[in-house]
Amino acid sequence: MEVRNFVDGALETTAQVLENVAPGTGEVYGTIPRSGKVEVDRAMAAAKRAFPGWAATPAAKRAACLERLADAVRDHADMLALAEARDNGKPVSLAAQVDIPRAEKNLRFYASGIQHFASQSHAMEGVAINYTLRKPLGVVACISPWNLPLYLFTWKVAPALAAGNCVVAKPSELTPVTAYLLSTWISDAGFPPGVFNVLHGLGPEVGEAMVTHPDIAAVSFTGGTATGARIAGHVAPQFKKMSLELGGKNPAIVFADADFEDALKTTLRSSFANQGQICLCGSRILVERPLYAKFRDALVAKASAMVAGDPLDSTTKFGAVVSEAHMNKILGHIAKAREEGGRVLCGGVRLHPKGVEQGFYVAPTIIEGLGPQCATNQEEIFGPVVTLQPFDTEEEALALANDTTYGLAATLWTTNLKRAHRVAAGIDSGIVWVNTWLLRDLRTPFGGVKSSGLGREGGFEAFEFFTEPQNICIQLSSSSS
Ligand code: NAD
Repeated sequence: MEVRNFVDGALETTAQVLENVAPGTGEVYGTIPRSGKVEVDRAMAAAKRAFPGWAATPAAKRAACLERLADAVRDHADMLALAEARDNGKPVSLAAQVDIPRAEKNLRFYASGIQHFASQSHAMEGVAINYTLRKPLGVVACISPWNLPLYLFTWKVAPALAAGNCVVAKPSELTPVTAYLLSTWISDAGFPPGVFNVLHGLGPEVGEAMVTHPDIAAVSFTGGTATGARIAGHVAPQFKKMSLELGGKNPAIVFADADFEDALKTTLRSSFANQGQICLCGSRILVERPLYAKFRDALVAKASAMVAGDPLDSTTKFGAVVSEAHMNKILGHIAKAREEGGRVLCGGVRLHPKGVEQGFYVAPTIIEGLGPQCATNQEEIFGPVVTLQPFDTEEEALALANDTTYGLAATLWTTNLKRAHRVAAGIDSGIVWVNTWLLRDLRTPFGGVKSSGLGREGGFEAFEFFTEPQNICIQLSSSSS
């Protein structure tokens, strides 16, 4: 497949291209544009031209464009799920059940949301009335990662466009195909040329050209913490808005009074769904000591029974990791864990599933025997690798949970209501799930603290990010002189 850029309402190629590899098989199966400053300048200019018209378009009309794009996603759902599985290595069943329906939902959610987004007024009794306008920012950059490609791409562009901004967006170079397919439906959905542009290429080239462009009004970024820091270094001195959704090292705390089967089943999922490549996956499993051995043995038994297979096979539940480089990085983390004295209870190796032997597969891996300060418990691995640590008291569980530079999400398992509230409030993270995982209501604030990010997405938070408030104060009577 030849992926193309979408600029000013037209699909385009570039002089140089990059190879696109299917991680499930290790084969090159297409090309993507290698865009740079030239393409960014043209997309920015087109977006700038389109901005006054789009900003003045009634919200209901902007919403109708998003709804038509959502219809296109719905109508091509099977094709998109297959494309996501081939491009990313995730099981096609997961893409069909989670990624693609959520992409459609993101578009519809913000199409609806913008029609309910009201501003405030503040009356100064008898003296004046204040009201707040929420104005679109201008041209915004949306940069997304490879782990949930269309899901996170639409999560950014939908509120940006709904709020009246023009967008220059870039999906990950590792998983460009679904954003490309979406871009082929933008014109038919009714977006005027220049309103929604999609560029492809390498982060340090096209991504960097986007975030350093003087006409960009804001940057919405999801990806690694090191990349986020680099982007912040460019954006902050220009006093532009930025939203950063970054890495995590999320704890899953299991108290001895937890519903055992529920905690076990869900912890297996929160550890290994999407091959552990979800920023919200729990990678440090903390278990109260009386339950530790039983929970460990059951989790290891379940993880050992997981079978990796071709992402395109509808029966596959555990697929490939995103690239050869990422696979080697994960295997390097496992080697480091062994050096640190960790005991690998299951997995710890590359797999070569039948029929797709050359693909990039890492077995579900569980490690115990490591202290909280070792690299394995501090660094984000972003693969199917989790550690187990026992704890004795609630205070110790909290101390362990908070003992990282990250603070994205946490999961808490207990049937003690008071403890659930107490511990949840004590965790330094943007999100805490109690007796569940990845249960999402799109109206809630989404994001992390500490090195996991800056700002919040979700619900009206996204509209607040993608608009600038302006206070207008009207005096109600003549000024006394
Ligand atoms: P990454 O930082 O390597 O890349 C993310 C995006 O940024 C890609 O599109 C990439 O091309 C681009 N990019 C890279 N360098 C750039 C630069 N110098 N300037 C501008 N853009 C640049 O991250 P990744 O490997 O694609 O994704 C994995 C990371 O994303 C993990 O750390 C994961 O935790 C994080 N993540 C966070 C969330 C969240 O909501 N907090 C969600 C998903 C993934």
